[in-house]
Amino acid sequence: MIEYRSDTFTKPTAAMFEAMFKAEVGDDVFGEDPTVNRLEAMAADMFGMEASIFCPTGTMTNQIAIKCHTQPGDEVICDQVSHVYVYEGGGIAFNSGCSIQPVKGNRGQITAEQVIEFINPDDIHKPRTSLVSLENTANRGGGSCYNFAEIERIKDVCLEHNLALHLDGARLFNAIVAKGEKPTQYGKTFDSISICLSKGLGTPVGSVLIGKKDFIKKARRIRKVLGGGWRQAGYMAAAGVYALENNIDRLAEDHRHAAMLAEAVGKKDFTGTIFPVETNILIFEVKGRLTPITFTKKLSEQGIRVLNISKTQVRMVLHLDISEEMVQKTIEAIKAF
Ligand SMILES: *Cc1c(COP(=O)(O)O)cnc(C)c1O
Repeated sequence: MIEYRSDTFTKPTAAMFEAMFKAEVGDDVFGEDPTVNRLEAMAADMFGMEASIFCPTGTMTNQIAIKCHTQPGDEVICDQVSHVYVYEGGGIAFNSGCSIQPVKGNRGQITAEQVIEFINPDDIHKPRTSLVSLENTANRGGGSCYNFAEIERIKDVCLEHNLALHLDGARLFNAIVAKGEKPTQYGKTFDSISICLSKGLGTPVGSVLIGKKDFIKKARRIRKVLGGGWRQAGYMAAAGVYALENNIDRLAEDHRHAAMLAEAVGKKDFTGTIFPVETNILIFEVKGRLTPITFTKKLSEQGIRVLNISKTQVRMVLHLDISEEMVQKTIEAIKAF
């Protein structure tokens, strides 16, 4: 099976498993899991931030961050296709009691001008705008990357209007590798950053929320309320430490594979618009003699799994369990359609 539906399907390599198996653990709710503590210190350090907290999912890290940054009745500005808005089960309303200002951005990205436009005036009729949440890379944008200068402009707007700035960085390392950036740039700019270890970095589960000491202290209380105090999580944290040490630079390989697939798909008469491939995600339209459903079915007959993400679009995501050979096999299969 060649699995392109998501980079969440990755399984630990033998070396990652060994690191997990050998992990020294304790009760993390008591703050006594040495491997969790090591991962949290390592993540904070990489970003030049004060502290971090290890959580089971990226949904939890995002939701905890939003809860920490807001009061019930506040409003959150984000792109209208952002994960925090469309893929977290209405969590912003459920957990934080906030309303949302979903902005129509460009491939999952909003601009500083749009943030300014959607900040509510100081008027008792309006919810208080208190948080801007960005996503980099943007999932529904086809793994699109922000221009860092735009992020800095958004930061200036946030400072001027006293808004917190959160980053859903589920695939932040893909952006950092693709653009040749440094994690510390992000650490300096955002009040909080969520990164997923379970996507292209290849761990079975786990995300980290990074921020200031006080913020993470508050986050720890909220994680407990959400049922996220997860005891000997060091076995999972060991996979995270391994991933941060070994699996970041190789993301460039996934980006190259995505571009190879885009080129092959682009030569077919049933392909419509292809989103520019910036990282490890390829999104394209299937039309004419094939539909996303028939395309997906034909590939699955050859053990190749891709995802229909709308009535017109197919998504393929590259990750460390997909070798160059598998990519070549997929290209041959697509050529033959
Ligand atoms: C995967 C993902 C998350 C977190 O998802 P979980 O499945 O809860 O770990 C958050 N944001 C984006 C953009 C994602 O792609």
